[in-house]
Amino acid sequence: MPALTDRFGRLHDDLRLSITDRCNLRCVYCMDDDVRFRPRDELLSVAEIGRIAKVARSLGVRSVRVTGGEPLVRREVVEIVATLAEMGFEDLSLTTNGTRLAGLAAPLAEAGLQRVNISCDSLREERFPEIRRRGRLEEVLGAMEAAEAVGLRPLKVNVVLARGVNDDEILSFAEFARTHRRIVRFIELMPLDSAGAWCRDQVVPSEEVIATIAQRYPLEPVHVAGDQAPAERYRFVDGGGEIGVIATVTRPFCGTCNRLRVTADGAVRNCLFSDEERSLRDLMRSGADDGMLVAAFLGSLADKRAGHGIDEPGFLRSRRSMSMIGG
Ligand code: SAM
Ligand code: SF4
Repeated sequence: MPALTDRFGRLHDDLRLSITDRCNLRCVYCMDDDVRFRPRDELLSVAEIGRIAKVARSLGVRSVRVTGGEPLVRREVVEIVATLAEMGFEDLSLTTNGTRLAGLAAPLAEAGLQRVNISCDSLREERFPEIRRRGRLEEVLGAMEAAEAVGLRPLKVNVVLARGVNDDEILSFAEFARTHRRIVRFIELMPLDSAGAWCRDQVVPSEEVIATIAQRYPLEPVHVAGDQAPAERYRFVDGGGEIGVIATVTRPFCGTCNRLRVTADGAVRNCLFSDEERSLRDLMRSGADDGMLVAAFLGSLADKRAGHGIDEPGFLRSRRSMSMIGG
């Protein structure tokens, strides 16, 4: 049996690797304006990130997504991607807010990055900064073109929907997916904002998203054997582009979860919503050998619960918010 199989039989071959908790934006659903960042010396160095990735690879991790905070605000991001690319992961991608991608797309692709996910929650110039508090839509749209031009494909566009904020743009995003033949993924709002303001009424159920789009543009489900990605996928019956929905809140996919996470300060976590953590950084800085890092990964996996329990009475919010974990 592969090393990273948990007690529920779930194989974990996907690693979300956060390289910073900092960000140049302050999206309302993620980071408060007065958020505090970790001192830099608490974050993993490039060498430490490389060592953790190597151990993960040896345990059978096949795919790595670099994230943050905003990964492109870390000066060494190209060096980090090159280090990971040398290890031969089958899939190496990065999630970004897109504001700094235009200038970095080519060096990242040259370093071995295969794909990017770009977050964009509104296609309206005036609304964009209301949600992300900083940044301009134009930069993000330009970044999408820059990414595709250097072969960072397929491009996925992440849209977090919130009731009364941007749920009137569902069809605009569907048309955007069709026009540009891109994958647009609608993510349900999760209780991971640093302000602790999330409430369930703000969540736009994925079912509603699909029904809204299908009424105007007929959709059919896409099934790929062995695909454990969290998104339920749909294609347009009459053309290009794709829609995905990530229904973490209303239709949790914990039963097929294949992800482990490492935070920017080096903690391995087995779930976005669980504060069960083991510090790989502290182990490395106290002279641990690779066997001890392996044991920390396996220990984390052994403690993984069957589900995140958002809907259970005793659910407690994670002590860390999304940007401090790595989404
Ligand atoms: N800064 C990058 C970005 O925005 O794409 C990468 C990190 S961000 C934490 C990763 C993803 O998490 C983004 O698509 C973002 O929109 C999403 N996200 C952040 N907070 C969220 C929340 N409370 N609920 C759902 N998704 C969230
Ligand atoms: Fe920054 Fe991404 Fe969080 Fe927005 S979602 S504040 S861009 S880390």
